[in-house]
Amino acid sequence: MYDLFTIVSRGLEPSLLPWLARNAATSDWPQVMLAAARFGGLEPGEAWPAIGMAVDEIAIARGLTRPTLPALPARPGVMLHNPATLFEEEVAWLLPQIPAGQVAGLPRIALGEIEQALLSGRDWYAALLISHLAPVLGSLRERVRSLAVRHGNDYWRAYLIALAALETPADSAAAEVDRSHPAVPALDRLAQGLPADQLEPLCRQLLAVLLDPDSRTAVARELRATKSSSLERFTPVEPLDAREGPALWVNNGIADPLTRRPHSPHQSLSTDTAYLFWFEIGDAPDPLSAEREPAELELPDDVTAGAVLQVTLTGGPGDLVVETGRETGELIVGADGRVRVARQPDGSASGGSRLYFPIRAPAGTGRRQLRCSLLHKGRNLQSRVVTTMVDEAEQVRAWAVETTVDFLSGQSLGAEALAAMEPIDLSILVDDRRPPGDLTGLVVAQGVEVAAVSMPVDALQQQVERARYALRRVSHNDVKLPQPGQFRYDDYDGAPKADPEAFRRDLELLALRGSDAWVELGGHIAMTFEQTGRAHLLSEPGPPGYEKVAVWRLSAWLRRPRVIEMANTADLRILIPATMIYDRPLAFRAKFRICDTFLNAQAGPAELSAVECFRGNCPHWDDDTVICPSGFWGFRHLLGSPQSVGQIAGADASRDVSARGPSITHSGRPRCAVGRAADFGREHPHWVSGLGDGSLPVRTDAASLLDDLRRDPEPHLVYFYCHGDFSDGMPVLQFDEAGDDVLAATDVAGRVRWLESQPLVFLNACRSIATQPEHASSFIEALIRRAGASGMVGTEIITYERLAADFAEQVLTEFVERRRPIGEAMRTARLRLLTRGNPLGLIYTAYAPPHLTMRSVA
Ligand SMILES: [Zn+2]
Repeated sequence: MYDLFTIVSRGLEPSLLPWLARNAATSDWPQVMLAAARFGGLEPGEAWPAIGMAVDEIAIARGLTRPTLPALPARPGVMLHNPATLFEEEVAWLLPQIPAGQVAGLPRIALGEIEQALLSGRDWYAALLISHLAPVLGSLRERVRSLAVRHGNDYWRAYLIALAALETPADSAAAEVDRSHPAVPALDRLAQGLPADQLEPLCRQLLAVLLDPDSRTAVARELRATKSSSLERFTPVEPLDAREGPALWVNNGIADPLTRRPHSPHQSLSTDTAYLFWFEIGDAPDPLSAEREPAELELPDDVTAGAVLQVTLTGGPGDLVVETGRETGELIVGADGRVRVARQPDGSASGGSRLYFPIRAPAGTGRRQLRCSLLHKGRNLQSRVVTTMVDEAEQVRAWAVETTVDFLSGQSLGAEALAAMEPIDLSILVDDRRPPGDLTGLVVAQGVEVAAVSMPVDALQQQVERARYALRRVSHNDVKLPQPGQFRYDDYDGAPKADPEAFRRDLELLALRGSDAWVELGGHIAMTFEQTGRAHLLSEPGPPGYEKVAVWRLSAWLRRPRVIEMANTADLRILIPATMIYDRPLAFRAKFRICDTFLNAQAGPAELSAVECFRGNCPHWDDDTVICPSGFWGFRHLLGSPQSVGQIAGADASRDVSARGPSITHSGRPRCAVGRAADFGREHPHWVSGLGDGSLPVRTDAASLLDDLRRDPEPHLVYFYCHGDFSDGMPVLQFDEAGDDVLAATDVAGRVRWLESQPLVFLNACRSIATQPEHASSFIEALIRRAGASGMVGTEIITYERLAADFAEQVLTEFVERRRPIGEAMRTARLRLLTRGNPLGLIYTAYAPPHLTMRSVA
């Protein structure tokens, strides 16, 4: 088998593996492994020289002839990969023997490596790893098993689960490889009889088959035959993990409007023709589904028997047209865990599992899209783009109909946390994947009603710019890189606190910009509600003088504090800072007063959240010359901007779909990983660290902080209190003044994987624009999508140490100590700052589900 790998990898210097097999003692392997792990970075090539050095040292120590070091890049420790001569998938693997006595520390690397292999679709490599490592993983075998259940594709899952149960190591490396795939021994025999020049084509074919289980080559048929005859070796296999009931898979596609017979996904649509779009949550992937890489659907814990799910279709102008009034259908979860139709989009109650939506292909040819969202109680669980090819006449084209999941909620709440919470009242999903200058899609869910809203992306972006400008102006007079002393609300260092008149002017500027944003965004939403026969959602009259205007009627519905999520598949640059939205009408060119109920309360001892204004009953609600801070969403509503935990469309979307567990759970006190810039005060970071169990000290350098982030047990709260900068154009967190000690998003993305704790990350990078929303996406990608954080708290504009510390202490007191949901903790913190006359809590955004909560378990 090594010969097979050698040939596959071509550039591999054949002497090394035999040399290692001949000369290295088992006790040498950890040295090789650790050398690789220590030096292995994201870049292929970094680990290999380290392995070479380790091998060299072994040779010297044993007085042996040193092997020639092959010029081969490698991934950490275990993979030899030569991009110069090989395709991405044509990779050879080096699996060092791990003596049972020396496994400490290695299982974690192994577990991460197995998950990475599964997520990136290298299933055979995952199988090899599991075959190799399962015997030494002990109780962690269960975790390997659930990784296999969750991420293994159809073809591999049963093998992977069986391999995860292995308790005894194989007799030899060859036996280990043999058991990683039932076809390997047969192929090995086949390979032995072949001349060398035929081995390579065989290897390539073999890889093609392994990478594409549908392959129709002769080798594929042989493999499949071997597979079925060998399957008994691995049975019985229980394919389901903890969840009861059947596995769930989303299937969807196009069907004939008369017979409802599903079309093949490889058949295009004909212009100006009626079709049906079908959707089901079945217990197996359907071969006719347009889901190109089916992934198992994990419903949140609260979606139990009897739960009703809404499925909604939205199209945009020029795209596939959804019949008005038939955009939403309902599914119900049965007692047996299966999902059936509760109500068809046309209103009929029918049995079966499939929803049928009447749609129409447009007159123009080309790629046309639809958005299909799955919601529960107004919360967006999953949203997918359906892309179809439209031709003059239907024709066969590969994946002419294809669906891609581009938003996947990570919110999966425990029953206990749920009981204390209201459902999401308003959910807005911003979707910008249309050409620039064109329209932005919003999918808006209000209770069970869902609407598709389109608005010009430019208009949205302009509002975002203006809102952020107002915040910068209020914070530091919009100075480009403000220094200490230039922050207007910085009440230390002798800087003056804003006087009452300045405070009034600041609120006025913020309210005017926030109101503009609301008129633009809310206006489009309300108008769509009106036009699509959902005017009953605007049934409450607006304030006097504005009774008839749709956007203010929508405001009236939002008068009480609500739970609002502004989810996002889009670039953060067009995500309106929801905190800044001001949803009360303001008189034209008026001289504004500040609400006296608020001012009196501000001077008093009571918490602002208990004051009438912030409970939806401001006495001046009907006076458009009065500005009340309760008009800002950030001061009245519980907000969250959850980021999809899947990958942004275009990438390999359906692979990285690990659902987040319930709220952040820990026993005893949580573990807090805290990093501070060396020149920042010690007191605040120690306070944050003191919320935790004390197991991790406050770090002042990137390297030891990164070590803490990778540590097992994993942290529940990660707090960065540091500078930020750019290094070769990449935003980085900076821990020294000189800018030498930095941590980039990729440093985290390539090394950290929180499989269990799924912490909240608080990013307080001060006096830097490096972590502002236009640059924050790399941190979101790294921390939420790759490392597995439950969410991230960040800022819309530059922050400074005093505000950062103040705000963080308020939020963390509520979130960690009092176990309040993040949306509420953020609002409370904003209001506490406001009590002291500082409106700048509005600059903080939670990129997390508003209900995210920290929970202690026994
Ligand atoms: Zn008021």
